[in-house]
This record gives sequence, C-alpha cells and structure tokens, in this order.
Amino acid sequence: MQALYAYGPKDLRLGTAPDDLLGPGQLRIKMARGGICGSDLHYFNHGGFGTVKLREPMILGHEVSGHVTEIGTGVDGYSVGDLVAVSPSRPCGVCDECLRGLPNQCLNMRFYGSAMPFPHIQGAFRESLIADAAQCINADGLTPAEAAMAEPLAVCLHAMAQAGTVLGKRVLVTGCGPIGVLVILAARRAGASEIIATDITDTALSRAKTAGADVTLNSLTHPEALAPYAAAKGSIDTGVECSGAEPALRAMVGALRPRATLVQLGLSGDMTLPMMQITAKELSLKGSFRFHAEFAQAVAFMQKGLIDVAPLVTHSFPLAQYATAFATANDRATAMKVQLEFT
Ligand code: ZN
Repeated sequence: MQALYAYGPKDLRLGTAPDDLLGPGQLRIKMARGGICGSDLHYFNHGGFGTVKLREPMILGHEVSGHVTEIGTGVDGYSVGDLVAVSPSRPCGVCDECLRGLPNQCLNMRFYGSAMPFPHIQGAFRESLIADAAQCINADGLTPAEAAMAEPLAVCLHAMAQAGTVLGKRVLVTGCGPIGVLVILAARRAGASEIIATDITDTALSRAKTAGADVTLNSLTHPEALAPYAAAKGSIDTGVECSGAEPALRAMVGALRPRATLVQLGLSGDMTLPMMQITAKELSLKGSFRFHAEFAQAVAFMQKGLIDVAPLVTHSFPLAQYATAFATANDRATAMKVQLEFT
C-alpha cells in the first residue's frame, strides 16, 4: 500500500508501507481523508519543530477518516462500510500518567506521525490502516472530510476545557489558522459573550469572522490593534494563544485583565514570557496539549450540528498530488484546511 513519508525538510516521498495483519479488537480501514496539520507542515518545512527532529523516514498524518473494510474478532458495533473518525491518540493505559487520568500525558504515547519518540511513530497518510476499535468513532451522518476534522476539533475542545468556563466572558484568540478558527467556534458554542481574534493575514481574519468572531484585528498591519483592550490593567477574561508566535503572546498578556486565564495552544518552540506582567496581574498560565476524551465529543458535536467544520476545509487533493497539497497548505493567505484524498 502507498503511504506518504517525510524524509527531511522539503523531502516528501510516496513509498510502500507494509500491510499489517488484523488482530483481535481491531478494524481495517480504507482511508478516505487526511488533513494536513501544522505539525505535518513543520516536519515538511523544517524536518521537525523545537527539539523534535526527524531521525528516520516517517509517515506523516494524524487527522484521518476512512471506511471499515474488515472487522477483527471481539469487535462489536461496526459494519463493513461504516465511516469512522480515527483518533491518533494511543496512550498505553498503564503508566503513571494514564493511571492518574491524564492519557494525553501518557509516558508511552504512540501518537500517529510523531517524531518525539524514537523509533518514530508512523502516521496515517496511507491507503489502508489497522486501528484498535477503541480509537475509532462511528461518524455516521458526517462526510469523510468532516470526520477527518474530529482531531483538530478535539485539540480545541481540550483547550477550552483547560480555559475553564467562558460563559459570558470576553475571549481573545490569537492566530486564526484552522486551530484558532475551531477555538472560535468552540468558544462561541461555550457561551463567550465577545470574541476578539487577531492574525497577520486578512484571509484568516475573514474566516474568523465567519466562524463567529465579533472583532477581527490584523496584528501585522496594526501592531497596536490590541492597545485599547490593554488600557488600565486589561479587559480580556480568557486568552487562547494559537499562533505559537511570541509577539502574539506578549500582546495577549498585555490585554488580559487581572486574574485572567491564558491558554497556550500554539506550539512552535520556546518563547520568552513577560513574567513581570504575568505575576503582577496574577494571571493563570496553562498549556494545552493534544486531547483524549474530547475526540468522541468532537464527533458528537459535529453529528448534532452544534459545530460546523465544513467551511474550514478549503482544499483537497488526491494523494498523488501531495506536493501541491503541501504547497497549498503552506500558503496561509489562500488555504485554511487542506486534506488529502486517499480514494
Ligand atoms: Zn500511559
């Protein structure tokens, strides 16, 4: 079967991946759609991010959906042909972090398409995949494109859980790529009274507006755009930083009001913090990393029509056109979410 491997910066190749044997409790899935994520782009552009670097060829991809083609022994509740969203999160279930209820912090996590451990964990941009049934959520009623959005939506639902209640609050979202826009959709659903969004491209900001942002600000053309919100001691209750860019983080800290919560979701390497302000305003600084239970919640939110991700999927390309797909995903002025088609 064909799979898409990253060998290093700007070096993607279609290769042959082994067809594994189907085990008990597993499903064989003919892949349908795979979304290109920011981390896939980091591997493509730079061979990794922060201290995480490719040390061997790795199949990319972790935002995937597909159709069940074979069902292992002991699996109930699936039929051949079912559309499933496949969670890339594979915690071990027995380490100290899993046992204290933090599967996203698993010490032995085998998250698809990750170069954090070595050997790297191979990803899901492939024609066929064997997954544990426990990783799969029946996506009946969704399109394959929507089902493949369950993963990034789960990331954002986890960030909202880290943020705590936003009911009636003023929320600032910095960085309006797919993650930022999904955070806006989730914050709106969670009852935020006002959502302010910043980005450095007008295309992203127009999508933020469509998703429900009340105010959109271009921080490239108007670097001081958040200044009015930073007056006195700040006026934002909750900030979700989705860009991983230090200037965005600094502007957010300035705009947050005393005892506000800042959730750092963007991940692109270390940043320097304005610690004086964080201390003096008694801010709560929280990270947000991956997800676990939120994956099933994401599918349910979409199935119930509570969050509509369809407008975010702006482009899709057959697997053979992976080069065009990645070039398009790199162009933030044009693309929001780019997906590969495996069938
Ligand atoms: Zn574990």
